[in-house]
Amino acid sequence: MKISELFGNLTFNEKVMREKLSFEVLQRFHATIERGEPMTRDVAECIAHALKEWALENNATHYTHWFQPLTGQTAEKHDAFLQFHGDGVPIERFFASELMQGEPDASSFPSGGTRTTFEARGYTAWDPKSPCFIIEGDLANTLCIPSVFFSYNGDSLDKKSTLIRSTMVLDEAAKELLGVMGYPVPQRVVVTAGAEQEYYLIDREVYRKREDLMLTGRTLVGAQPIRGQKLSDHYFGSILPDVKAFMEDVELALYRLGVPCKTRHNEVAPSQYEIAPVFEEVNIAADHNQLMMMMLKQKAAARGFALLLHEKPFQGLNGSGKHNNWSMADEAGINYFSPGKNREEFLRFLCFLVSFINAVHQHGVFIRASVATASNDFRLGGHEAPPSIISVFVGSALEQVLNDLKCGNFTELNALETVQAGLKYVPQIEKDNTDRNRTSPIAFTGNKFEFRAVGSAQPLGFPNTVLNTAMAESMKEMSEMIRREVSGGKNREEAILAALSAMLNNCDRVVFNGNCYSRGWQEEAVKRGLPNLKATPEALRAAFCDEKERSFLLSANVLNRTELDARYEIKVEEYAKRVEIEARTLQKLIRKDIRPALVMQLRDLDELAWGVRTRYRELSGQLERDSGRLAGELEGLRGIEGSEQQAQFCFGSILPLMGKIRESVDFLEEETDRRLWRLPDYDQLLSRR
Ligand code: ADP
Ligand code: MG
Repeated sequence: MKISELFGNLTFNEKVMREKLSFEVLQRFHATIERGEPMTRDVAECIAHALKEWALENNATHYTHWFQPLTGQTAEKHDAFLQFHGDGVPIERFFASELMQGEPDASSFPSGGTRTTFEARGYTAWDPKSPCFIIEGDLANTLCIPSVFFSYNGDSLDKKSTLIRSTMVLDEAAKELLGVMGYPVPQRVVVTAGAEQEYYLIDREVYRKREDLMLTGRTLVGAQPIRGQKLSDHYFGSILPDVKAFMEDVELALYRLGVPCKTRHNEVAPSQYEIAPVFEEVNIAADHNQLMMMMLKQKAAARGFALLLHEKPFQGLNGSGKHNNWSMADEAGINYFSPGKNREEFLRFLCFLVSFINAVHQHGVFIRASVATASNDFRLGGHEAPPSIISVFVGSALEQVLNDLKCGNFTELNALETVQAGLKYVPQIEKDNTDRNRTSPIAFTGNKFEFRAVGSAQPLGFPNTVLNTAMAESMKEMSEMIRREVSGGKNREEAILAALSAMLNNCDRVVFNGNCYSRGWQEEAVKRGLPNLKATPEALRAAFCDEKERSFLLSANVLNRTELDARYEIKVEEYAKRVEIEARTLQKLIRKDIRPALVMQLRDLDELAWGVRTRYRELSGQLERDSGRLAGELEGLRGIEGSEQQAQFCFGSILPLMGKIRESVDFLEEETDRRLWRLPDYDQLLSRR
């Protein structure tokens, strides 16, 4: 099998377009996606026709605008190509008007109060940059048209339109900076992103016995496994045949959809895995990551597995992230975060690097908020995930360069050394400029940044919208500083160095190259004045409700006030709802599974070891009282007005009580007769034959 031959054969790609479109139409299409030139009606009409022809050849009966509403999922509503002529003769038709725009009833999508149901109009509009693709069904196929989604007033109702706006702002700011620095200005600067996707894969049968996993995505109770990840023998271990068959199934489907899968491996925890693509323009990477999550779920179900995308499905075991690799490049493929081959390129690199550090320094609060969800809270700050203090790792070699720059001195990176492993006939290996730092939320890894705090279930749209806009603002600031230095009489290089030095002196407290998991860093961060927003409600509030924190998104016109308020409302509401669902699921588990087991076991206390009988009785009683309290708290939650207050209450009262209940349950589980305990335990959930 040659993947290059089947890659993208379910996409309306360049090759198909060359076959189906006239040279002129294709050129005009490129002018639109590369230079933003408006698409004329006749060009769109030609494309719509070709797209329909191609879709019919590929067995498609329906088409849909495929978009990413603020639910965090994708959405689709299918329409048949079928129409009828006046004389009743059936025919497949598809017009530019249908390609360019759809109008789903938007009333049931979250809008955070931007619309009332009587103003329910929402529009989907084709995003021509992201190739149309075909999703195969059992009997027939569907043409998917990647789209953005907005309201009657033009307010963004999705994750993609704001992302696209942010790339436009970044493009402009990057070109301005290159111009001011005296470097050649490219046609366009884009953001490249590659998202490493972690997930758990467990047996579907066991999964179906855990209602908590099914309803909330995580285990709400469960004693620690005996084996777990203690032996560190799963990471990069040889992949079991049935898992590998699943991975191949997923990858093959994704290759045909034009998603460039590259890497697969076992992750740290048992039953945990990773799939990573080759990076692409962020807009397309965001779509492809959604397709990846969708295929993972579908193929898992088809093969008797359940796929867990939750950030922390198992307490005490590693959580799952989505490492968002992020860089900037131009149409010639020049990566602006590559240190380059000569002095000039290195200086250019430094300008982008320092601008990025400054961006994180200025907007750490919003960057933190961009990854804040109820489920990611269980991971950030845990010992395998970067903490909620936003800092940047650059490595010791670059740190030296930056320290010199602060004093106004320009030193170049030392030539790469070779790694001395003491093996004679093994090829020499060049050292990277940075070692790896797995503890940092944002790590520079040689020619890109790895934003590691993004949650495994999260779409790429919002975190990248925030990063891009922060970076754009920072580059503008850098341009301004250089301009000022030039007009003060400095030559260009002197001006750049002065600007770099000034900016660094202001922002480098956000650089930290040590172990971010250590207590020492938490203390150090306090001294440096870096915020540590541990929980979602406070992170969201600090970012979205503070004019000072959110103004960069407003002034860049990436999000307006309505859009920001809507996102805040949707996020806090989702937080409260998710916690409520968890609490109700826990109640159900106690009622239907746990209490019945305890009742039986309490009748037969002789079975238990003598030393634990008293404790068993005590904790059963404690559990009884706590679950009564939980019922009361849930009643209380109902009476609270306003999502923000509800979210606060969930964080302050319900979650801690759930944690306390879990402690009792986990002790009781360990002591109870296996025949009575109906929930599969951690060892069973995680054992892969
Ligand atoms: P790791 O060791 O962290 O897995 P890799 O080199 O395998 O690092 O790359 C991880 C991810 O980074 C991949 O998805 C890859 O496509 C992405 N990546 C590499 N270069 C860039 C870049 N210039 N811009 C964005 N993402 C990139
Ligand atoms: Mg990685």
